[in-house]
Amino acid sequence: MSAAHVPVTAIVTVGNELLCGETVDTNAAWLARSLAALGAPVVRKFTVGDIAREIQAGVRAALEIADLVVVSGGLGPTSDDATKQAVADLLGRRLELDQGLLAALRERFRARGYPQMPSLNISQAEVPEGATVLRNPNGTAPGLAMAADARLVVLLPGVPRELRAIFDGDLRVFLADRFGARLKPIHHRVIHTTGVADSKLAELVEPRRPTDMGPVTLAYLPDLRGVDLRLSSRGISAAEAEPWFARIEEAIGPVVAPWRFEAESGDVVEALNAALARAGKRVAVAESCTGGLIAKRITDRPGSSEVFVGGVIAYENEVKIAQLGVSADDLRRHGAVSEVVARQMALGVAERFGASAGIGITGVAGPGGGTPEKPVGTVWLATALDGQVEARLLSLIGDREAIRERAAQEALSRLFRRVVEAAKA
Ligand code: ATP
Ligand code: MG
Repeated sequence: MSAAHVPVTAIVTVGNELLCGETVDTNAAWLARSLAALGAPVVRKFTVGDIAREIQAGVRAALEIADLVVVSGGLGPTSDDATKQAVADLLGRRLELDQGLLAALRERFRARGYPQMPSLNISQAEVPEGATVLRNPNGTAPGLAMAADARLVVLLPGVPRELRAIFDGDLRVFLADRFGARLKPIHHRVIHTTGVADSKLAELVEPRRPTDMGPVTLAYLPDLRGVDLRLSSRGISAAEAEPWFARIEEAIGPVVAPWRFEAESGDVVEALNAALARAGKRVAVAESCTGGLIAKRITDRPGSSEVFVGGVIAYENEVKIAQLGVSADDLRRHGAVSEVVARQMALGVAERFGASAGIGITGVAGPGGGTPEKPVGTVWLATALDGQVEARLLSLIGDREAIRERAAQEALSRLFRRVVEAAKA
């Protein structure tokens, strides 16, 4: 093992509840993210049952491939908590009662109004000889770190808020101490896009990106709201990564520009609200198929009162007519899911609410209600800006939730584009 290489980590999560799928293994994901960010990337994950033989097999396999082994779960005081004893046995260490820990445990119980600590908990003050105790501010089971030859094994409790607190407290300091400059944190630069498929983006981006990306990799991260292009550097400092990021961004920037938005949170609403505020405009919404989701998305962000007036959930035709001034005749002739109705909804809500911008949206979210002419996923979206209405037909795919989520996202992004374009004109 050379002194300079980046330490790699293997994670072992312990628990029958994880194996049978009763508990989702969020610890493994959280640890992997945190360890990657810290500069000790995870190369393999193991999940094992609550018995000593399995825990030892997992840790043994992990030690074969990693410099750092992080074990989660099974540190509690009950009989199903076997991790500490199993790992101590594997590494050939006796458990010793740590008097300082015992006193702290007793005090913890006293402070909570229990005159006597249950004798079961005494086992939590037992520490494998030579182990470093990592304080647990949120519970009774401390984390434990111990050397195994040139490697390091860390035990953490399974309760997520305890595991996270120990990681962000004592463990972070311990690892920085132990690995020092060998930790090479990962740095990211994220380019947010919405309204374009990842395959289309890749088609445009791939020919444009520099052939030599140096230490930087590019990932396409799609979800219902859009695609993030994430540039990641590994093994170099932020200052060293910066020129690489800048060069790559300059090369691919022009082709992603039509769908790009800037937002710290990654939410296009942040960009929309900022653009509305800059332009001194406010928005009102008239929602049918999204049932208030657009209003929720906007108001989820703090400070939205500056740019959001209110909205109407116009599900029934009567509401579209009475509250938004949609023409009963047009509803009858074209149906509720139609361009004219979407336009009248957007204009109507903007006018009635005294807002310079309006969104009107009406569609078939499914699973029922589709017809050959208007299948499930057919959505008419209209945006009004200073009296100018623009409408577009969306053909969205997915289940009801996906269609509603995509429809709301399209509405928010479309309005964002229009506000930005109007500001440029
Ligand atoms: P305790 O002292 O509470 O017994 P422990 O270290 O023994 O803590 P476990 O008994 O393994 O931890 O798990 C306690 C609880 O923490 C579980 O019921 C589960 O809800 C949660 N948990 C355990 N492991 C994970 C995991 N990998 N991901 C998410 N949650 C987990
Ligand atoms: Mg337990």
